[in-house]
Amino acid sequence: MCGIVGYVGDNYDISVVVEGLKRLEYRGYDSAGLACVNIDNSINSKNEIKYCKSVGKVGNLQQKIFQEYPNLIAADSNFKSNQQLNVIAHTRWATHGEPSTINAHPHLDTSEKFAIVHNGIIENYENLREHLIAQDFTFKSETDSEVIANLISYCYEGDFFAAVASAVKKLQGTYGIAVISTEKPDEIIVASKGSPIAIGLRENDKIIASDVVAIAAYTKQVIYLSDDDIAIVTSNNIEIRNVDNVVIEREKKTLDWDIESVSKGEYAHFMLKEIFEQPQVLANSVRGRYNLDLATANLAGLNLTAQDIVRLNRIVIAACGTSLNAGLLGEYYFEDLAHIPTEVDQAAEFRYRNPIIEVDSLVLAVSQSGETADTLAAVNEAINKGAIVAAICNSVGSTIARRCGRGVYLHAGVEVSVASTKAFTCQSVVMLLMALMFGRCRRLNQQTGQDLIAEIIKIPQLVEEVLAQSDEIHRIAKKYVKCCNFLYIGRGYLYPVALEGALKLKEISYIHAEGYHAAELKHGPIALLCEDTPVMALANKMPGKDKVIGNIQECLARKAPVVVTATKNDADIEKLAVDDVIWLPEASVYTTPIITAVALQLFSYFVALERGCEIDQPRNLAKSVTVE
Ligand code: GLU
Repeated sequence: MCGIVGYVGDNYDISVVVEGLKRLEYRGYDSAGLACVNIDNSINSKNEIKYCKSVGKVGNLQQKIFQEYPNLIAADSNFKSNQQLNVIAHTRWATHGEPSTINAHPHLDTSEKFAIVHNGIIENYENLREHLIAQDFTFKSETDSEVIANLISYCYEGDFFAAVASAVKKLQGTYGIAVISTEKPDEIIVASKGSPIAIGLRENDKIIASDVVAIAAYTKQVIYLSDDDIAIVTSNNIEIRNVDNVVIEREKKTLDWDIESVSKGEYAHFMLKEIFEQPQVLANSVRGRYNLDLATANLAGLNLTAQDIVRLNRIVIAACGTSLNAGLLGEYYFEDLAHIPTEVDQAAEFRYRNPIIEVDSLVLAVSQSGETADTLAAVNEAINKGAIVAAICNSVGSTIARRCGRGVYLHAGVEVSVASTKAFTCQSVVMLLMALMFGRCRRLNQQTGQDLIAEIIKIPQLVEEVLAQSDEIHRIAKKYVKCCNFLYIGRGYLYPVALEGALKLKEISYIHAEGYHAAELKHGPIALLCEDTPVMALANKMPGKDKVIGNIQECLARKAPVVVTATKNDADIEKLAVDDVIWLPEASVYTTPIITAVALQLFSYFVALERGCEIDQPRNLAKSVTVE
């Protein structure tokens, strides 16, 4: 959600941070700001921190900087020092205090010696604030974050690092922070706990960010901080220590993707681009991960032996939002193919309900960003309880991926649209591969394994065929732009897809949509049906189709408009007097849910487009939910 960018080096132009903030725009935020140390080398002069903040888009901040500090973005900068530039910047997603200029970061301490930007939540900020007020510190904002600036100032006894280290020791909650000080104008200090910080390495300057998307245009060499790390970053050096001042080495990583992949190209929106990328990224998710001779999947990152897999007695999937829906599909795959009892847990609930973890339980943490706070908390709880915990993440090197230490990456490329599309289908295909691997160890014969691989390999082509229906889906979508409510129904493998279809529609079009198991319709939601409440019925050729047809009749009898997803040339569907049919290619039980999800993504996209919604950054939503 929120984002941090910082720069220390000899380039006097703040474009690096402004561009970096723009790269983070996709994550969703409500205000932005930056601060830097203005070094004054004249006699008797004093360094000072200058800052600029504004509500809304980074563009607003940029404009304000131009107005207030016209030279800041130009080469001959007011902020220019004889040595270098030292800037921290932030996009905020408010948790404590409304989005306003005062609440926007950076926050300065009372003496204006320190400025901080913070991602996360400080849980004990009220106590700290009271304590600091009693020591004559003053506060301007309603945020939890401001307490960090004053706390550092309170702890300062002439050593910048020591002050940050003793301050973070007193913090409870999560933080990624970047701090500058008039006392050390050539340093940025960053620290991390449960909220990521990466440092981009270049010879004469360094870029820090909470998401490497803000760094990748400048360097591919990065270091990720681990929990409780504190780093002193200068233009030509990085020193990482822990809170007890012990020096720590962290490995350099090389980013393996290009910043070009983070542009919309010819598409009107990132969401549309990402929907259309699916044939390619699904192929990437599968490539090199199956073995036709052995008729199984090869997922070495799970680090599970055949004996481990045979011993598994339970799978628990912890996830949120779209990943949770992918997890529900995974539950069908694991139980059906591997006969392993599987349950899906809302990650937010996992640690609070004392889940039962036994020896040989596998917990799968599913998160596109790998930074989802609730899923991370579930991972920590599962590790504490002795489970085998594996990650299914898209972002390489993300906190969840590192914490689990085992898992499967999606290889879906950066997903920019807040509404997840390609991550969902890749998560689904990765869990299908896992179910194949587990199934082959436990019960499936070679032929069944080979048949399943043949189906999996066909997915990209099938998705192409769905995408070829885009104009037709657009035509159908136009008919439903005015509705206020929508029900999605499905059975079996198509039940999680109904949930995901409804989620996608509400996320980007703001139409109230609910997904239900088709059998649940008559246990309540049927009361909503009328001419103004359309139903999306998932009636592809799958077990349970006949029963869905029965449910469609019930909807039609209540005069609800009905849109159906169906398998091409299905005579049973052709006979129905429904309003619209989205015809999809013939596919297997295991792959039909994936291709149906793609059709529903397009449907949501076109409804939102026709309603004039801000598709890539829907209101109130953020890409990676890094707070509880
Ligand atoms: N909790 C802080 C605030 O409300 C930081 C939120 C964020 O991570 O953007 O200002």
